Amino acid sequence: MNKKVRVRFAPSPTGGLHLGGVRTVLFNYLFAKQHNGEFVLRIEDTDQTRFVEGAEQYIYDTLDWCGLVPDESPLHGGNFAPYKQSQRKDLYKQYALKLVEDGFAYYAFDTANELELKRNSIPNFQYNHITREGMKNSLVLDETTTKELLKSGLPYVIRMKMPHNEDIRFNDMIRGEIHFNSSLVDDKVLLKADGMPTYHLAVVVDDYLMQISHAFRGEEWLPSAPVHILLWKYLFGLNNMPQWAHLPLILKPDGNGKLSKRDGDRLGFPVFAKDWYDPKTNETTVGFKERGFLPQAFLNMLVMLGWNDGTEQEIFTLQEMVEKFSIERVHKGGAKFDYEKAKWFNHAWIMKLDINSLNLQVKNVLGSLTVGYSDSYINQVINLTKDRCTFIADFEQQTSYFFKAPINVDVAAIKPKWDNNKQHFFEEYLNWLNTNFDWSTSILEQEFKNLASANGLKHGELMLPFRIMLVGGKFGPAVFDIANIIGKEQTITRIKHVLNLLA
Ligand code: GLU
Repeated sequence: MNKKVRVRFAPSPTGGLHLGGVRTVLFNYLFAKQHNGEFVLRIEDTDQTRFVEGAEQYIYDTLDWCGLVPDESPLHGGNFAPYKQSQRKDLYKQYALKLVEDGFAYYAFDTANELELKRNSIPNFQYNHITREGMKNSLVLDETTTKELLKSGLPYVIRMKMPHNEDIRFNDMIRGEIHFNSSLVDDKVLLKADGMPTYHLAVVVDDYLMQISHAFRGEEWLPSAPVHILLWKYLFGLNNMPQWAHLPLILKPDGNGKLSKRDGDRLGFPVFAKDWYDPKTNETTVGFKERGFLPQAFLNMLVMLGWNDGTEQEIFTLQEMVEKFSIERVHKGGAKFDYEKAKWFNHAWIMKLDINSLNLQVKNVLGSLTVGYSDSYINQVINLTKDRCTFIADFEQQTSYFFKAPINVDVAAIKPKWDNNKQHFFEEYLNWLNTNFDWSTSILEQEFKNLASANGLKHGELMLPFRIMLVGGKFGPAVFDIANIIGKEQTITRIKHVLNLLA
């Protein structure tokens, strides 16, 4: 690859960022970093009617949370600033005018009303190489009339003149050679009446001006590709056109079709990266972040949706992804989203995360509970319980009894099989604990077993009561490990407390 690699993520800020969008960011980022290239974030906000308060900030926050920091963006600046299309408005018109001059575009004066009438009278009306003849545009009107109309201040748009029956082809890095017949594509508006470019014009002009070398985007943009290829041809003679890669869709877990927010609502899982508050409906949609996903797990899960490195490896750090990612190994077919698998990734990352960053996050969840406890104590607790946690929030339930004796003890679960023998056993064990100075797990366990058999009891029957005494319920890791960590005083106090309740 000779050309400097420059890729872009070019979202229109119209709502929460779907996980497919974040995967597009990720693939862009990985490709850029792998080739010592640059990753550009460009905000495509030329459609003022779709402006949504907060949507742009949401994109910055999401990228920040994921740690996918752009090299150039509206926030970071760069040599090709500005990176927001609304701030580049004046730049696009000259390209639209050049297309008109060269005969590849034309002025159209049809009013909204006139277009509406056509749509009502002609089923599936499209403004195209057939219908344009019957409309009010500079292809039909003579030159003088066109000039007069332009001068009169009548609103107009500039439309692309799609050629008739031309074979448009390009090479997609994922899909190989792709053909389109130009007759199937309508005459897209390039410049709107308010002087703003449409997405089609702006995306091509900006990819050119920003020297984008590779354009990765979701498969839903494939139908727009012929328009963009032709614009590249007409405006820049195809010189320096980026290489295209249309990424496969992320599909519903059940059935076919693209995974949507509605599927998430229906099946009870997030689809957006972060919580999204929609100012129009006043509704908040839960995100992966707030649901308790670690950004590392979220990215790991995303990279595996449509890609693998050809081995059995499933867990990748961002650095490993940068090293191993290859666009050639991205599948053509859509990837089914699997929420259980997403949770599996989160658990795997909780197991993998270094203890210091886990420590901070767990303390965050536990709040004041950990005050007064040393980090080495907290870390011991984390290491013993992390295997039981899918989300960081699970640490609350799984660890709170290490910091505070349980308030509710499930005595009812002990009672049915409780008898004097067992009572006696625990009293003896208590005596021994009081005088014992070796608090290692194995000694605690050994004596427990010895005393059980001396009392003619199976130690297995005594384990559940012991667990409930220390933990409050029927859960948690190995009970002697718990006793070992909470220490002598707490172990003794908790046993005594429950023996009293049982008496
Ligand atoms: N603005 C488009 C979007 O919202 C960008 C598509 C592209 O990358 O060309 O996704």
